Amino acid sequence: MNIAENIKRFENIIQNDSCTLIAVSKTKPVEDILEAYEAGLKDFGENKVQELTEKFEQLPKDIRWHMIGHLQRNKVKYIASFVHLIHSVDSWRLLKEINKQGEKVGRTINCLLQVHIAREETKFGLSEEELLELLQSPEFAALGHIQVTGLMGMATNTENLERIREEFHYLRELFDRIRTDYTLPNAEMKELSMGMSSDYLTALEEGSTMVRIGSALFGSRNYH
Ligand SMILES: *Cc1c(COP(=O)(O)O)cnc(C)c1O
Repeated sequence: MNIAENIKRFENIIQNDSCTLIAVSKTKPVEDILEAYEAGLKDFGENKVQELTEKFEQLPKDIRWHMIGHLQRNKVKYIASFVHLIHSVDSWRLLKEINKQGEKVGRTINCLLQVHIAREETKFGLSEEELLELLQSPEFAALGHIQVTGLMGMATNTENLERIREEFHYLRELFDRIRTDYTLPNAEMKELSMGMSSDYLTALEEGSTMVRIGSALFGSRNYH
């Protein structure tokens, strides 16, 4: 599997300046990331804090690091100084902790709110009610060190593409509704992070602005 060729193929498929390809490099060695970096990619996603900080230290500093996995509050402090975007904000308490750590390091940290769209119990995320309540709360307006730049969702792990499409479509409509119906402090809804190796084509058709691609770029995962 040639990483540079895979990237070219993806760039041809996406063919859209308003969609960002995020290379999900979890479990992959820094050599693989460098190969993708040299082929022109700057956005990389990781799902574990320790792996993310280790790779940040070893790799070029103009890489934009995306935290895409479930994030525990006590680990926010390790990534607050450098993370480009946290995709997986799924609770009010986590958002408050990110704000607190952002204040400590003097940064405004970009976040996506993760919405539970899958018909599976196992995926993290806010319900529509929780999301709307959070966005409209006075406490949210008072947070000075976070900026919500959009939404993220993960579809059900199924081969049924129609079901996946319905879930992405629902998220797209929710995203559009928030953009048109609400004036929000601390939020500029412009990114819709949805789609992975198995369902990115459907996600693109449903209006994704960020696809998170791992195995289709780097080959199947090396578990460790
Ligand atoms: C691993 C992961 C991906 C990428 O998965 P692939 O199927 O390898 O493309 C995308 N998003 C999240 C949140 C992940 O944990």
